[in-house]
Amino acid sequence: MTTLFISDLHLHEGRPDLTRAFFRFLDEKVHANDTLYILGDFFEVSIGDDLFTDYQLEICEKLSTLNDKDITTYVMHGNRDFLLGKRFCKLSNTQLLPDPTPVQFGLTQTLLSHGDLWCTSDEKYQKYRRFVRNPIAQWIFLRLPKSFREGVGVKLRSNSKGREIQDYSILDVTPETIEQEMLDRNIPIVIHGHTHRPARHPLPEVAMALHTTNAERIVLGDWDKKGWYLSFENGSFDLIDFDIEP
Ligand code: MN
Repeated sequence: MTTLFISDLHLHEGRPDLTRAFFRFLDEKVHANDTLYILGDFFEVSIGDDLFTDYQLEICEKLSTLNDKDITTYVMHGNRDFLLGKRFCKLSNTQLLPDPTPVQFGLTQTLLSHGDLWCTSDEKYQKYRRFVRNPIAQWIFLRLPKSFREGVGVKLRSNSKGREIQDYSILDVTPETIEQEMLDRNIPIVIHGHTHRPARHPLPEVAMALHTTNAERIVLGDWDKKGWYLSFENGSFDLIDFDIEP
């Protein structure tokens, strides 16, 4: 029984290589009785469950087959696919998790997040995030015409691409914010994505404060030239990358 974590696949029609890699990952790396956590930005964009493309429906269908192998799949919203809702869960046989969510694996207490809520030095982004995550704003958006929402989807994608180049440094999480949250919640392990900076950051000071041997912030990688996943088995984590075949 292994627990696997992925994030930031940014799946869309334009990258059939990523789609193939994801399907292969499910077939080869996720085994019967495993648990899979998808920590956000699974889809490149989502403008409402009612406007799923055939491509997105195909992905949902593939995810739904994991249930046949007794694999439980949890999905967290990212900053691109935060509109995934009930229909998505039904089609894909998955369960949505709030961001952040504390989960205990054996003796290991962890806090799971997409990560963008910890980009606290970017005040403009946090303001935008509060607006688009507001249930009333979402309720209204989901009732706007298809063409308008598709336009917003296109704009969202091009904007954030421009931003990534412009102020790349500000898009990282603020480590102090996360470490404070770990201390407040008494949780020694944080797993998040979003930043596209895959790494394992040991936090000896947090470990000392929490009277534990190991504290760590584990950052998942985005899928582009490489794919990334984190596995947890027999009490230890392993952050693994592999080549995306063209
Ligand atoms: Mn993200």
